[in-house]
Amino acid sequence: MTNNIERCSKCIQSKNYPKIKFEENGVCNFCNKKNKSTKIEASFIDNAKIKISNLFDNRIKRGEYDAVVCYSGGKDSTYVLKLAVEKYGLNVLAFTLDNGYIAEVAWKNIRKVVDSLGVDHWVYRPSSENYKAIARASAITDVYRKNTLTRISAICNSCISMVNITALKIALEKKIPFILAGFTLGQIPINAIIYKNHYKFLADSRLESLNKLREEVGDVVDDYLCIKDELINEVKEYPHNVNILCIEDVTETEIKDAIAPLGWVSPKDVDGCSSNCMLNTFNNYVHEEVFGYNPYEMELSHLIREGLMTRSEALDKINDSSVEQIAPIMASLSIEKNDIISVKNVYDSKR
Ligand SMILES: [Zn+2]
Repeated sequence: MTNNIERCSKCIQSKNYPKIKFEENGVCNFCNKKNKSTKIEASFIDNAKIKISNLFDNRIKRGEYDAVVCYSGGKDSTYVLKLAVEKYGLNVLAFTLDNGYIAEVAWKNIRKVVDSLGVDHWVYRPSSENYKAIARASAITDVYRKNTLTRISAICNSCISMVNITALKIALEKKIPFILAGFTLGQIPINAIIYKNHYKFLADSRLESLNKLREEVGDVVDDYLCIKDELINEVKEYPHNVNILCIEDVTETEIKDAIAPLGWVSPKDVDGCSSNCMLNTFNNYVHEEVFGYNPYEMELSHLIREGLMTRSEALDKINDSSVEQIAPIMASLSIEKNDIISVKNVYDSKR
């Protein structure tokens, strides 16, 4: 674990983070750059606010729903679901990918929240065997390039790809114009707040990693990470992905207070960085072993720079990992310590 590693004195980014430099008073280059770019970012977000309300106000009803909301049951996507219904008045379909590792208390939250908000809910559970094969391959082979894993662990990346592809399938099949998710600006780049989804462009950018997954797992990965040509060829209009949480200036406490009346409570059996998925502790462990830093460093540091979290709160989060959960998860995915050392060696050889 990375408890005693050298970190920026302002945020929590550590010495192993790619392209980090510690400058005057131990402040990192990302914090110093942030001070210079604040104005540009603020005007970008102001524009995004206008674009989002225009998009939602001028939506054309093509099917029964306005938006599919990727709903993990975590605090951020719960807040997004609430905003979609109560702030924007959208008729939403909540969608949850059940990866088999969602904490019991998170399921209770999910059921209470969708009932409180009165929304339809669709749960998709990939076969456990196939899901585990994809997760395993993601963790112990170099499926992704190093630079795609600076803000996310490899398993989370595969899992989120499954969520994104399934949400797009639902949107295309049901002619839903918007896809909403609980991403924050620490997780996605600022130009990804709103974008028109284009499957072919997306597929091209993912081809290399998809081929690696196919090699490891077989063509079955296509069922979860690809959309069939028959559906794509019929598409007249792609949906917009709209990440509405990125334009909200809101702290974690404010989010939790806002969703508490829906019946949402903090899960206890997950680590400090995830409010719903029990795989997360293991994913962070592998990422730290392989790359030497926690995949949440960037996201949490972003919140610190925005004044939405204190440095000590962020440190508490990444140090709050339930180590005893790692061995059972490794066993469930048939992963051994040596597998993690091997993938570290592969990535190290690419340095
Ligand atoms: Zn910093």
